[in-house]
This record gives sequence, structure tokens and C-alpha cells, in this order.
Amino acid sequence: MATVKKDIRALTKEQLRDFFVKQGDKAFRGNQVYEWLWQKSAHTFEDMTNISKETRQMLEDNFVINHIKVDTMQRSNDGTIKNAVRLHDGLIVESVLIPTATRSTACVSSQVGCSLDCKFCATARLKRMRNLNPDEIYDQVVAIDNESRLYFNRPLSNIVFMGMGEPLMNYNNVLKAIDKITSDEGLGMSPKRITVSTSGVPKMIKKMADDAVKFNLAVSLHSAIDEVRTSIMPFNDNFPLDDLRESLEYWYQKTKRKISYEYVVWKGINDSQKDIDALVNFCKYVPCKVNIIEYNPIDDGEFQQANNEALEHYINTLEKNRIVVNVRRSRGKDIDAACGQLANKS
Ligand code: SAH
Repeated sequence: MATVKKDIRALTKEQLRDFFVKQGDKAFRGNQVYEWLWQKSAHTFEDMTNISKETRQMLEDNFVINHIKVDTMQRSNDGTIKNAVRLHDGLIVESVLIPTATRSTACVSSQVGCSLDCKFCATARLKRMRNLNPDEIYDQVVAIDNESRLYFNRPLSNIVFMGMGEPLMNYNNVLKAIDKITSDEGLGMSPKRITVSTSGVPKMIKKMADDAVKFNLAVSLHSAIDEVRTSIMPFNDNFPLDDLRESLEYWYQKTKRKISYEYVVWKGINDSQKDIDALVNFCKYVPCKVNIIEYNPIDDGEFQQANNEALEHYINTLEKNRIVVNVRRSRGKDIDAACGQLANKS
């Protein structure tokens, strides 16, 4: 009977060293292979040129490297690149490279599909199939880093977990991936350049604070009124704003790091004075800034971006209340690569 080969990147460095010792080899061989797997991002055992042919064959007999494959790459008029990434089991996720004058930002996925049901998000229409493994998240980052070097002559500068899925519902794997991305044995990136975006799972926000993570936190708020938020993000019914608020206060107390709120203003949904006042009030709880995101239409028009006047009023009111506000223009809309548009359409 054929033995099932193990995913070699599920092993820690220690486990890999132990494996080689058990094989009668040196623990050091584990370090060499580990370096190939992560820092050098080898796709095959063949690539490991400083490992003997025999050892490579032995690894081949026992393990697999479940490397992702960029199935298709699309380039937008504005330079944005979208990768459709094929996983070892044939499922597909998407990741995006967003270039600006000074930065290259990778937007990566954490799950195949999403279990949340935000009414305005295309990914929500895909069933959640499974969580991504740490190596599958890591590979997306490496692929985008390579593309950034190739097309923009510079390495990746920032990473946002704003692709498909809810990162805090795949917390352990996201954390392991970030460990590799930030470790010198991986990509050696600073955690200050990484942002995890969540729809707001209070228990997990507290856990992150307890785990003393060093990356940034963004919360997709979109409304500071429970009824409104529940109508567009139904899971809010289970995690109401009071709980979210409490978890964010806890986060700030422990980490002393500002929170970013992501916020889209929609016509007739959250563009009234009452909505603005509620947001201003919510912003008083913990030090924060607000990123107003442009709406990327995904449907038949149930959701429409509020007009400029309403947006201006939002921005002015926030500024008057000394709240830092940024307006984020959409990127990659023509190739369905913008926020909330990732739905494996091509
Ligand atoms: N699940 C995580 C990360 C994925 S969504 C989260 O909710 O934060 C990344 C961001 O895109 C979130 O702020 C989300 O609310 C926003 N978004 C979703 N659909 C959108 C759309 N159609 N237009 C603009 N932003 C959208």
C-alpha cells in the first residue's frame, strides 16, 4: 500500500531536524532543507542543489511540497495585479499587488471563500470551503514579492490581510504565516508593515492582544449603529458593537496601538447625520483613524456609493472632531481586484 506523503512545510524546524537525525543524518541537514523550504521558497526537492541526490529522493518518497501555482495573472490599467492562485487540492483564491508611487502592497487571502455574510462583499457569496494553511498564505506573499521586483523593480513593502476570508476565523494559521513572513528564516519583513483586517470578532481581538502581536489591526466597521450594522453585516447580531468596543479597548490597553476603521458610505444606508454622529462617538473609545473606502459595486445596485456631498460632510465632521480620516481610492476595479470584488470570476 502506498504511504500518504506528508506536507513537509507542516513540520517545524525542530521536527525536520529530528527527522534527519532519525534517518541517521545530521540535524544540520534539517536546517538546510528548512532554508530551502522557506527563505528560498523551493517548489521542488530537485531545486535543493546543496542536498545530495539520494537525500532529495528520500524526501521525495516521504513528503510533498504543496506550493501554490499562480494560475492566471491579470494587470489593471492602474498597474494593480491580480493573481488567481491554485492550491494543491485544486481550489482557487485570489491575491492582489497594489502599487503606488512609493509602495508595493500585497493583499492576501486567508480562507477559500468566507463564512461571514456581509451583504456588500462578493466573497461572501462564495461558500467557505476551507482555511488556508500557513504555507499557502506565505506563498501568496512570495509570489507578489516576486512580481513587485519584476514589474516595479522593488520588493514588497506592505501586506494587508484584506483578500478573501476572515483572518480571525483562521487565526492560528494566519499567525504562523506572519511568523514566517517576519522571521529572518522567512522573508524578514517588519510586522509594522502588516495589517490584519477583521469584520470584528471580539474574542479573537482579545486573544491577539494577549498574544502581544506586533502587526496592525484594522476593523471593518461600516456602521456604529447596531441595527444598521446588522442589516449589512448580519453576524453583527452575534457580536454586537458593545462587545466589539470592549475588545478594542482591551486591545489598546495591552498593545498601545491605534486601530484603523474601514468604512464605506452608502446612499440611504449609513449617510445620515445620525450615522455620522454614531461614528464620531465610536471613535472616542480608543485612539483610531478612519479609512473611508470607495464602494466597489458587486451587484444590481442594492448598494450605491453615497454622493460626494455626503462624503464631504462625513469627512468634515470627522475632522472637526479631530479624528484622522483618509480616503482610499479603489484600485484594480477593471479586473475585479478591488476590495470586496474577489470572487474567482476569472
Ligand atoms: N474579512 C476581513 C477582510 C476581507 S474584506 C474584513 O472584513 O475586514 C477587506 C475590506 O473590504 C473590508 O473592510 C470590507 O468591509 C471591504 N469591502 C468588502 N466588500 C466591499 C466592496 N464591495 N466595496 C468596498 N469595500 C468592500
